[in-house]
Amino acid sequence: MTAPGARPAGEPPSPLLGQAELRGRLSRLLTADRLHPCLLFVGPPGIGKRGLARWLAMHRNCDEPGAPCGRCWSCRQIDRGAHPDVLEVLPDPEKATPVIGVAQARALMGQLSLHRSHARTRFVLIDEADRLTPEAANALLLTLEEPPDGTMFVLMTGRPSALLSTVRSRCQRVNLRPVPASELGGWLSDRGLADADWLAAMAEGCPGRALSLAEGEAERWRSVRDELLHAISGEIWAFFGLAERVAKGDKADKARLAGEQAIVLDVLERLLQDALAHTAGRPARFHADRPEIVAAWAGGLGVPGVARMGLELDLARQMLAEHVNARLVFDALILRLAAELGGARRAGAGLGPPAAPTPAGGHDA
Ligand SMILES: [Zn+2]
Repeated sequence: MTAPGARPAGEPPSPLLGQAELRGRLSRLLTADRLHPCLLFVGPPGIGKRGLARWLAMHRNCDEPGAPCGRCWSCRQIDRGAHPDVLEVLPDPEKATPVIGVAQARALMGQLSLHRSHARTRFVLIDEADRLTPEAANALLLTLEEPPDGTMFVLMTGRPSALLSTVRSRCQRVNLRPVPASELGGWLSDRGLADADWLAAMAEGCPGRALSLAEGEAERWRSVRDELLHAISGEIWAFFGLAERVAKGDKADKARLAGEQAIVLDVLERLLQDALAHTAGRPARFHADRPEIVAAWAGGLGVPGVARMGLELDLARQMLAEHVNARLVFDALILRLAAELGGARRAGAGLGPPAAPTPAGGHDA
């Protein structure tokens, strides 16, 4: 059973933090009845798109003066995603690749054909709208063009370019801004979280991301990070071994492997950012506990090397997204990194020299 007012178990947090200027603008337009009936909220995962969309629905449907009060029946139901007139659509998690399919779009149209039960304005919140299949998007086009009376749509995405242009053109785009690190750090600290400043830096202005990290992802990130740093500062073959581990697995392991691959790339990217900060005389934000590695990377790569490796990481992400063999992607990345870090190796840090007899064999950095 879910306690009144609590979020259903397993639902990702949708905290509302920051966006004060944007909320002011939306509030004025809503009060003046000049808000576009189809909005497209754009921002990275965890920035608070769903929290803001629910806030808007609460603002419109709150039963008390000074809306949204956050306490009345409507506000509480909307906040927990349980209001009968605030319809939330998400990609179907049962599908191998989660999408919002045409059956979901048709079910939604069926619901919209019924009368509103309670709300002044009915809201349709479509999360990860970039996962609408073309058939589902096409089924919604006419409704988005002319929403039923008293109905507002809020589509949300981190990848607006992945939406059909016909969907985009029917919506007014609203960009969410990252929450400033000091504000996010203070908010995390008020929640009693250790490492609030580090979490805020890692989350890059996204409160939902900071909470996911605090709820266990940070532990996983640090464990992969430590294994990676150990491999980087030792023999190159240790690094190839790690690459093999994160690249190989059966289908059941797909999600875990993709998660570990993303962490490896993230650790490397943040090492590059710290190295760049080091060359500019600024403190490291992500790997401050490993200053020797940051200094070795800064010395070995220099600014041009950091830029080149940044492009290599982008390329690796793109190839993984296109299902290129992960082992090939990581091997290429490691060899490039070893070549770039040549300076650091000569300075006695970074990737170690290729050892003579090797378990993998045949590679040469
Ligand atoms: Zn209220």
